[in-house]
Amino acid sequence: MIPSVLPTYSRAPLTFVKGEGSWLIEADGRRFLDLGAGIAVNALGHAHPKLVEALTTQASALWHVSNLYHIPQQEKLADLLVEHTFADTVFFTNSGTESCELAVKMARKYWFDKGQADRTEIITFEGSFHGRSSAGIAAAGSEKMTKGFGPLLGGFKHLPWNDHDALTVAITDQTAAIMIEPVQGEGGIRPLPDQCLKGLRDLCDAHGILLILDEVQCGVGRTGKLFAHEWAVIEPDIMMVAKGIGGGFPLGAVLSTENAASGMTAGTHGSTYGGNPLGCAVGAVVIQTIADSDFLADVSRRAGALRQSLEGLIAQHPDVFEAVRGTGLMLGLKCKATNIDVVNAGYDNAVITVPAADNVIRLLPALNITEEDIAEATKRLSAAASQVEAAS
Ligand SMILES: *Cc1c(COP(=O)(O)O)cnc(C)c1O
Repeated sequence: MIPSVLPTYSRAPLTFVKGEGSWLIEADGRRFLDLGAGIAVNALGHAHPKLVEALTTQASALWHVSNLYHIPQQEKLADLLVEHTFADTVFFTNSGTESCELAVKMARKYWFDKGQADRTEIITFEGSFHGRSSAGIAAAGSEKMTKGFGPLLGGFKHLPWNDHDALTVAITDQTAAIMIEPVQGEGGIRPLPDQCLKGLRDLCDAHGILLILDEVQCGVGRTGKLFAHEWAVIEPDIMMVAKGIGGGFPLGAVLSTENAASGMTAGTHGSTYGGNPLGCAVGAVVIQTIADSDFLADVSRRAGALRQSLEGLIAQHPDVFEAVRGTGLMLGLKCKATNIDVVNAGYDNAVITVPAADNVIRLLPALNITEEDIAEATKRLSAAASQVEAAS
């Protein structure tokens, strides 16, 4: 008999009932060190006092009014994002895949309004992930995500990752936009080198193409900059955001230049919940906290400490781990053992990691994880690796 919860996930046999910073408490009382942060969502850890306060204060005043009216919390968060990024304007969504939907619509409407209605094609890359909506799965294009869900939304051209020649050949006068994650998350923590992102920007400029960055996972401080593309010193035209921006409250956003957003006039897009007072009150505190240069410098420092201890872990367990990759607190351990076995051994040792493609385990801790917790996490990962070695 089908469970009352649609069984689209194969879940670990764990039920967490409370969170404190980088720790999750299981129903049986065990304390887990959380290096997954709800898949890069709980950017400030669990139950951060400032986020709890923002949410509860707003909850006792007003939850929802719809976008038929002005929402001051939404305007405040939009102003903050405009102040701290390339963007001139922001639309709020509730998730990453909704941000993908708008990014696709925005790029196509841009060219339609410019009188180039057949310029609809969006170039995307192998191994990418843009969410599970119809546009998101068509954009990523992998068989795993799309099989059985046809007819797929058309107009996406999928190219190999990191193949400059394939890209130059693929661009035509139908190319509306290029959509890419600066650091692939689900694809196995694969960072695009800075010079490639710069090259992409140049290519887009040369052909007048819009550059859409999907920073749903790598954005909001995760790499040690507020947004990952800042490392390459370039700016996108459109950027998809979600995950970390709500600190655990469902919130997403599409950031855009005035030019790229020029087609999105009243009535062209909408969302009932998007930009609601609860989410935006929390999001404003998240962005205020993370956009601070001292906070971001701390992220890089902690990332250095974590990376160094992971290098040590690889040296200690060469049959389990092969290499560390990624940037900031978006790190991947490429495994020699099966990644799921390592994740499961982590559960046995009360440390949480997240599997990704390419036999990688992801470490996406809260951005404010303490050095003490990093040291404890390393011990537990080492114990998990020893368990995998003993079992093989
Ligand atoms: C998680 C993710 C999405 C989808 O976000 P949802 O909130 O699950 O819809 C899109 N793009 C990237 C890069 C992601 O990591």
